[in-house]
Amino acid sequence: MTPSISATPASGGDLLDILKQRFGYDEFRPGQHAIISNALAGRHGLVVMPTGGGKSLCYQLPALALGGLTLVVSPLIALMKDQVDALRANGIAADFLNSSLDNRTAAAVERKAQAGGVSLLYAAPERVVMPGFRRFLRTLDLRLIAIDEAHCISEWGHDFRPDYRALSELRTEFPQVPVMALTATATQRVRQDIVDQLGLDQCGEFISGFDRPNLSYRLLPRKNSWDALLNLLEARQGQSVIIYCLSRRETEDLAGRLTASGHSAAAYHAGLDADTRRLTQERFIDGEVPIVVATIAFGMGIDKPDIRLVVHYTLPKSIEGYYQETGRAGRDGMPSQCVLFFSDGEQRKHDYFINRIEDSDLHHAARQQLLKMVEYARLATCRRKFLLEYFGDEVSRDSCGNCDNCSSERRSVDVTVVAQKMLSAVIRTGERFGFAHVAHVLLGSNVARVRELGHNQLSVFGIVDDYDRTGLRQIANGLVETGLMARSDGQYPTLSVTDAGRAWLHSRQSLTLNLRVDDEPPQRNTASGGAAAATHFPASPAAAGLFARLRTLRRRLADQQGVPAFVVFNDATLRNLAAAQPTRPEDMLRVSGVGPAKLDKYGAQFLAEIRQHLGGDAARSGRQPSAIESRLNRSSDTNPGGPLADTYLSTFRMLGQGLTIADIAEQRGLTEQTVVAHVERIVAAGHSVDLTSLMPPTERVDRILDALSGFDGDRLAPVRESLGDDFSYEEIRLVRILRGQT
Ligand code: ADP
Ligand code: ZN
Repeated sequence: MTPSISATPASGGDLLDILKQRFGYDEFRPGQHAIISNALAGRHGLVVMPTGGGKSLCYQLPALALGGLTLVVSPLIALMKDQVDALRANGIAADFLNSSLDNRTAAAVERKAQAGGVSLLYAAPERVVMPGFRRFLRTLDLRLIAIDEAHCISEWGHDFRPDYRALSELRTEFPQVPVMALTATATQRVRQDIVDQLGLDQCGEFISGFDRPNLSYRLLPRKNSWDALLNLLEARQGQSVIIYCLSRRETEDLAGRLTASGHSAAAYHAGLDADTRRLTQERFIDGEVPIVVATIAFGMGIDKPDIRLVVHYTLPKSIEGYYQETGRAGRDGMPSQCVLFFSDGEQRKHDYFINRIEDSDLHHAARQQLLKMVEYARLATCRRKFLLEYFGDEVSRDSCGNCDNCSSERRSVDVTVVAQKMLSAVIRTGERFGFAHVAHVLLGSNVARVRELGHNQLSVFGIVDDYDRTGLRQIANGLVETGLMARSDGQYPTLSVTDAGRAWLHSRQSLTLNLRVDDEPPQRNTASGGAAAATHFPASPAAAGLFARLRTLRRRLADQQGVPAFVVFNDATLRNLAAAQPTRPEDMLRVSGVGPAKLDKYGAQFLAEIRQHLGGDAARSGRQPSAIESRLNRSSDTNPGGPLADTYLSTFRMLGQGLTIADIAEQRGLTEQTVVAHVERIVAAGHSVDLTSLMPPTERVDRILDALSGFDGDRLAPVRESLGDDFSYEEIRLVRILRGQT
């Protein structure tokens, strides 16, 4: 470890050097430098920083600069291993001691620490307060004590833990060792309590604002919440999402419905047994189950940096809770969404819980907190400003530009033609069906119900090819809002055309809808569709394809090493890599998030992937690739990926999740033929698709390749004829993609 034992603080340049060399980062986040300097000067520190602000680094870097050992007290046992893994991936000597270790392993860790082989030692408070542990501590070269989640020491906080109280004894026993207390949520009262309880005299206080600029806040009406939820999830396939509900039953119902509609979702609540909860948590952290539907029991132990969406399906009971739960989104600083569903009757759901509170003060307090939450939901002004002011931040700007009330910049979109088509389809199908069916008809989906009703014979069948389902839903909502169409109430709402709608149809007037910019319907095959789709992806289209590829590589490496994906590189770093496209180690090292240790560990693989993406040939890798491999490579290594419309993106993401053509067809309500067409399109746009798993058995591939080589031109009929009925067109088309010439 870096053995700089000087008591004088390292200079700014030295710290930056350690930051890059040991953590891979190029610059400090706001507040970090001052906090670190304070610790290096041997002073106590109180650090209040929002989730995702980068608190860990504030003690991890001093741990290296100070030498000796830094003790990190953390209540989150479930997190320790991940944090230690992440540090080790950076080549930092970290270990943990908690109840998950057997005695023998724990003893080995202790010996290692005594021998000076541990820079950062994580331990749970219940262990730290044991006399035996403190005897052990006295045998170490203890230089800094970091106390994470320090609000747990205060009864005024929302998460008081008695064990934390006893931490004050550490202070009496090691009076000369500086303490850094860190928390994300602390009111003035809790702050003071932390300082008093721990006896942190002459303590540096570092209170960052509560703003999380990368989080967007948005409210959606409770009505149609199911459809709206599906829309949100569709736009975020494969990304990590938490959906909060109020009751255990609700979480299970919703997780069940989501699973039934093709999303991989799991329920999580305190009523499940410990094993199930642990497993769900692990699978979520590993990205195996992207969606968790949870009561607030979920999240305390979640340190996943790339949660992109936090949905409150029901109204939370306080602003504190809401802020903390939404705070779990976007810890890596990448744009992430917080969506709250609300309607006026919503608060009544809480009555049952509140009325059970017997203590009249507590009852009153709970009621007040709920009213504050309702006030937030009804806001017509900036939501961020309201939240920040609630926590005592001063906010001068009235508009943040990143909540629904601030960014509702609307744009007129001409929807004349698609609206005519939709109203006609509603009329032709007898005004008896809901949106899902009408969309199937308009998009020409090959689903049984449409066939049974003979709706595939209607003139409106399949007449929409410039919008996908998500786009159509937005048009439908717009038509209902403007009164041209009506939606019945009830569990299965049906669409009908109003008198005004009929009049408009006959008038042949044009129609523009004022759609919020962020609601602009995704269109297919058009320039604007591409742009809309690209908003879910990194800025440059070329980077989009590469990003997907690097993600796949990261997944593979993480699986091989049995660590969560973000231990390899977090999303922010992958995006930086996809944008910078380094091809040499020294260029890769310049990318934020890449330090020497990770370059050493993963550099070769990532550089190879990037080179391949940029068109390098497989032969360079040394081994002569087989005929099939080189074809596979060729098919995925064309020009960098271009933008994809939403419908292709959905297919692309599902392919990325390892679904087969048949799975995707089933889940998306499309024919296999259409899905294969998507694959052709995606590959033609230059994105890499792992075709191997989509291929028929090798000997069939060989026969198809043979047959294909006997014919020129695009027509497949003669190829199929020569192969015989035993071969399907889809198979042949897939192999044709493989051959690299669609
Ligand atoms: P907190 O504990 O405050 O919630 P973390 O310490 O987990 O936040 O940090 C959040 C994310 O920010 C992590 O992915 C971390 O690696 C990253 N991070 C921290 N400091 C920096 C920095 N200086 N530059 C870039 N990323 C950073
Ligand atoms: Zn705002």
